[in-house]
Amino acid sequence: MRRWLFADQLGPHFLDDPDQPVLLVESTRVLARRRFHRQKAQLLLSALRHRARELGERCDHRIGATYGEVVADYGEPLEVPDPSSWPARRFVTDLPGVTVVPTAYTATSRDDFATWADGGGTGTGGRRRLLMEDFYRWQRRRFGVLMDGDSPVGGRWNFDHDNRQPPPRRPHLDLPEPWSPSETEVDAEVREHLERLERDGHARFRGADGPRRFAATRAEAGQALDWFVRHRLADFGPYEDAMLAGDWAMAHSTLSPALNLGLLHPLEVVAAAEQAYRRGEAPIASVEGFVRQVLGWREYIWGIYWWAGEDYADRNALGARTPLPRWFDDLDADAVGAACLSDVLAGVRDRGWVHHIPRLMVLGNWALQRGYDPRALTDFFHESFVDGYAWVMAPNVVGMSQYADGGLMATKPYAAGGAYIHRMSDYCGGCRYHPSHRLGDDACPFTAGYWVFLDRNAEALAANPRLRRPLAGLARLADRAAVTAAEHHRGPGPP
Ligand code: SF4
Repeated sequence: MRRWLFADQLGPHFLDDPDQPVLLVESTRVLARRRFHRQKAQLLLSALRHRARELGERCDHRIGATYGEVVADYGEPLEVPDPSSWPARRFVTDLPGVTVVPTAYTATSRDDFATWADGGGTGTGGRRRLLMEDFYRWQRRRFGVLMDGDSPVGGRWNFDHDNRQPPPRRPHLDLPEPWSPSETEVDAEVREHLERLERDGHARFRGADGPRRFAATRAEAGQALDWFVRHRLADFGPYEDAMLAGDWAMAHSTLSPALNLGLLHPLEVVAAAEQAYRRGEAPIASVEGFVRQVLGWREYIWGIYWWAGEDYADRNALGARTPLPRWFDDLDADAVGAACLSDVLAGVRDRGWVHHIPRLMVLGNWALQRGYDPRALTDFFHESFVDGYAWVMAPNVVGMSQYADGGLMATKPYAAGGAYIHRMSDYCGGCRYHPSHRLGDDACPFTAGYWVFLDRNAEALAANPRLRRPLAGLARLADRAAVTAAEHHRGPGPP
């Protein structure tokens, strides 16, 4: 049967048989409905069209206004791997003549995750908290990753103590740059197509155009993985949470776009990292930190997305309702004086990608402090990041970053003042604000914003034991009213 593949199902593992006929569909309405980053649209269409070329005559590549328009009257039965979002899943399930087959997108199926979360086989009758650390150890054991028999390699499950250090006192980690592709004629064709759509009013993008930076084919993804493992993996751990204004990628793999396009399978990525350790080419702390991201965090996010249900993305436990201001939504970095926020917005504008700490502790932290609407923020992340998809962004934004699920994923909100950013980056030295000042002309908007966040949510967070000390600190703050008034006066404009 012909297999219909979505644009995030492009690797060989989405086909049972390498000779199977394939249908690939481009929907122009998807681009009209959302305001994607220009480079994200480029990557997605480039990947889809490269795949169509690779498959040659076996592939029927169609462009239509909607998926339904192409698929509803297709004229032959189709099967499709289970899609990666609730709306897409509902859509394909309701289509006559289409059979949904299991997907090979992740190592953990929805049923696997439910078994773990509901305490299947453990006799617990369900978990009180879905702790990532528990899930991660379960994953390591069942896939036999970084294991010596029943014990974790290196004698410990967790090397966070060795990892997650502040950045070194130099502007750059001095590693080889992340792998990047040479554009092909397919990219040129896609670029022209997107320019035409925008010119004719059929699409509106955000962010800057630029050369494609991430893998769009299986071969490119393999090269990117190999390059990372050989040149950058060994340094991943120590600085995985650090930020340097002059080093956009630090030692990160930048493989998330290829993984999320389905060009790589997570288990092959993890295996490549483990082999580097076994060959003595990378230390256990870096390899464990990387495996934790791919086999732990990424799969956990996928599991939460399905397990928590379709309405998860609409949760808003803290009642945050502020609309995203124009400067934020437009990635207008030049309007922002706060050095950290300006640089991170510029990174998103120019590349559609920044690593997990700028996402969580600068953009997410800012939005949490200012009470941005979590649903609107989820859409912003989904559309602005080259690796953003519904399943990735709902748990990451609603759960991790905005605490809008009321604590299902995170044990406390990821709110932090300027001291955290000062410790983990080199931003503050060149900033007009002072990270430890909460009042006055040079009051750091993150430091003041932290107290205002606690002040606004003190009642809602009072029962959280991890916030007992911060809330006690708030109660003792002599200038609490003045800080709140000053931040209110700062208003919704760029800081
Ligand atoms: Fe960001 Fe505050 Fe540091 Fe400026 S002083 S870079 S606003 S944390």
